[in-house]
Amino acid sequence: MTRFVCIVVLQACLNGLTVGPLAAQNNDEGLPAVYRETARAIINAALGDGQAYAMLEELCLQIGPRLSGSPEAAAAVEWSRNKMVEVGLEGVRLQPVMVPHWVRGPVESALVLNSESAGSVQLEVCALGGTIGTPEFGVIGEVIEVQNFEEVKALGKSAQGKIIFYNRALDRTLMTTFKAYGGAVDQRSRGAIEAAKVGAKAVLVRSMTTALDDVPHTGAMRYDDGVEKIPSAAISTIDADFLSRLLKQDQKVRLRLTLSAKTFADAPSANVLGEIRGSEKPEEVIVLGGHLDSWDKGHGAHDDGAGCMQSIEALRLLKSLDLKPKRTIRAVMFMNEENGVRGGLAYADSAGRSSEKHILAIESDRGGFTPRGFSVTAESAQFESIARWAGLLEAMAADKIVPGYGGVDINPLNKQFGVPVMGLVVDAHRYFDYHHSDNDTIDKVNERELELGAAAMAIISYVVAMEGI
Ligand SMILES: [Zn+2]
Repeated sequence: MTRFVCIVVLQACLNGLTVGPLAAQNNDEGLPAVYRETARAIINAALGDGQAYAMLEELCLQIGPRLSGSPEAAAAVEWSRNKMVEVGLEGVRLQPVMVPHWVRGPVESALVLNSESAGSVQLEVCALGGTIGTPEFGVIGEVIEVQNFEEVKALGKSAQGKIIFYNRALDRTLMTTFKAYGGAVDQRSRGAIEAAKVGAKAVLVRSMTTALDDVPHTGAMRYDDGVEKIPSAAISTIDADFLSRLLKQDQKVRLRLTLSAKTFADAPSANVLGEIRGSEKPEEVIVLGGHLDSWDKGHGAHDDGAGCMQSIEALRLLKSLDLKPKRTIRAVMFMNEENGVRGGLAYADSAGRSSEKHILAIESDRGGFTPRGFSVTAESAQFESIARWAGLLEAMAADKIVPGYGGVDINPLNKQFGVPVMGLVVDAHRYFDYHHSDNDTIDKVNERELELGAAAMAIISYVVAMEGI
């Protein structure tokens, strides 16, 4: 008897985990049954026989990181075109675009010179994207630690000839890691400009990561016309803490920074496009995209091979279920998000010249983690129209559709033409552990999490393709 009860209870629990009480709680009840069934079929296809991870593995292991202008980026363009053809997309084509061509070069070193308490110590650094190189034997200077640009300005003439060390950490108390990143990244993007204004000769920037690790995290930096260009490198968070301690112990810490980075003339490259053409309104387009380029670190797996493969996978899932959207759904592999956004701008430019009407663009560029929903930039009526489908994503707990940012590559569509844009929101607590570093490799991506993101994109793009906005 006891045993029987246990079995009954167990069965009830299992039902609860699948279709029993859970279905009763779902907010998809008011939605048309055909879409509820379609959403469940898409999720089943994604989890049962998804291909996003296998595609990402191929991209990561056969090609690797794909910095704009590099041979690997060119190989990724060809690979993506072939993959789109292989999964049966229509209208597969390249959209040519010229991209910046910056190369890290083989030398990047920061050597603490004969400090009183630690002697000579090599620090873990890497060139920031876009930096100039140093002379062959580096630049040598005394290190000054700062937290922000106000402190740099206050240094005045005392910064002349020094190496400015920006050491403001990401705020780990913030629940949204992107906010923590946003609160610190000015040091990386504008640090060299502000330091050069007070006569500094180089810049070291604490890596933009919530983790304490020994790998430097790169990323874009820039120069301003009229301000001297000075070399700029990221330092690992462990070595940033070490250097900070050293500066508290010793009167003076001198350091030799050597970088062999170079910028060449712009190089030809391309966005890659493929689609399922709409059966009734083919001229109305929904874009699904990620950026194909990455930094030259790790595999560019989460950033943003994941978003690219999810975009292709979303279309493949629809095709595998023989779903025929009324409007066109197009996957776009954008080139050059990291250091120029040339692909995103070129795509918007061509959309502006085309007779097509873009009704929605969705980007996945926050890592291939468990999806939580979408953040939408749109007018309120458009937002409501999109948000009414949230219940279809509830089974995978990805139903938070909230106002917010779309994505770097699709932003020009919104800015120039008012196209509603939305970004896939994920559980991003681990994202900045990997972001722009040697840690961003395929083994950090979970197959189910990646695939669920593709399913969420497939579901939303499909219902919007059927019902419009
Ligand atoms: Zn990215």
